[in-house]
Amino acid sequence: MYFYSKESSRIEDNYRMYSHLGYEGICAYCGESFKSSSSKAKYCSQRCQNDAYIKRRKERKALEKQKICVMCKKQFTAKKKDAMYCSDACKQKAYRERKNFTDFS
Ligand SMILES: [Zn+2]
Ligand SMILES: [Zn+2]
Repeated sequence: MYFYSKESSRIEDNYRMYSHLGYEGICAYCGESFKSSSSKAKYCSQRCQNDAYIKRRKERKALEKQKICVMCKKQFTAKKKDAMYCSDACKQKAYRERKNFTDFS
């Protein structure tokens, strides 16, 4: 009898624990519906929040690497964040032009 009453109070605790989760949302990462105590919650779990953050960061990094060559105006994927030219040829061309410019000035 003692065991039974302990068990039933635990169920009641659980009920109280979840009854305040009045908001239902769709996880912005995995698309699962979830319940939350906050209407602003975007993710069903900490894991989804983490994964979404990592994904966003990866996308931003990939975007950062998409550059326009200063010399030929072609789009290219840079290996370095501060790369300005699509190739060594453009880099050298730019260097030569700069050299010419300083020679004539
Ligand atoms: Zn999720
Ligand atoms: Zn170029």
